[in-house]
Amino acid sequence: MQIYENICFLSSNCLSFVSSFLFAEMIIFKTKNKLSSYLFHLPTQTSIGFVPTMGALHKGHLTLIEKAKIDCSVVICSIFVNPTQFNNKEDFDKYPNSITKDITQLEKINCDVVYTPAISDLYAENEQANHYDFNGLDKLIEGKFREGHFDGVATIIEKFFGIINPKKAYFGQKDLQQLLIVKSLTKKLNLPIEIIDCPTIREKNGLAISSRNKLLNKKQLETATLLYNSLLFCKDNKELYSIEKLKTLIQKNFSEQNDVRLEYIEFVNAITLQSISQFKAKDKNAICIAAFISGVRLIDNIIF
Ligand code: AMP
Repeated sequence: MQIYENICFLSSNCLSFVSSFLFAEMIIFKTKNKLSSYLFHLPTQTSIGFVPTMGALHKGHLTLIEKAKIDCSVVICSIFVNPTQFNNKEDFDKYPNSITKDITQLEKINCDVVYTPAISDLYAENEQANHYDFNGLDKLIEGKFREGHFDGVATIIEKFFGIINPKKAYFGQKDLQQLLIVKSLTKKLNLPIEIIDCPTIREKNGLAISSRNKLLNKKQLETATLLYNSLLFCKDNKELYSIEKLKTLIQKNFSEQNDVRLEYIEFVNAITLQSISQFKAKDKNAICIAAFISGVRLIDNIIF
């Protein structure tokens, strides 16, 4: 009764916070203003964990949220397909959307808050991505094939960080270059946000789980295992063949398959993403791959 009487005197924002706290209900915000108002009413010591996603949620995303739940007192997941990071309109248009299923999955794992803004909530009309100087990091690997992609990623992450101001933000190693760009952005802007790396979650056959896998049928998904198998082959044979030779072998293997096109396989330093000509035992190495499987572009990497 005491609690109830007190609640009656609270504002509606505060009320939604208190009721979510008492009944552990997930709260969905569609606008940054409502989300900001909710955040403003949280106790100052609240540690906020943030997981940005583009939806079509899968086990990979859910693992990030589960990790954030362990570390933080309030976990916010955003679902937003960010237009400025797509350099191909068709790719943007056909990006999978399963918002109802996403919400159910987030409820099941007790995510606290979901932010699902419309484009107009985050971008003014005709607003473009900002331009950032990442000392060339954004021009390597993916950057060579997706011009402006990382400016788009950094633009939306800067906006999200500005609204949410999380203590920790969680990113998958599956998008290794994105993870490094976000770390670089955070450092550049001097933000007190810890960026947490999360390992790539895979299907039993090794295929990295991705929202884009939903665009493939069963047979195409089987073909898509070629990406991870190529990475494993290179890692397992690194003593036997030179990097040059490994590249040639992978290119040849792809050219012999139907309905696939290798865009790149790159051997790099896992921190700087600079190309390497030899694996170095003292450094972290990474092999990154991008390929089209029946027209769907997939990426993967292995770090060792
Ligand atoms: P996306 O919705 O594709 O933008 O991904 C949102 C976040 O989930 C990013 O930090 C991704 O790196 C991460 N992610 C996507 N797929 C996986 C996966 N299979 N394993 C781990 N993290 C992933």
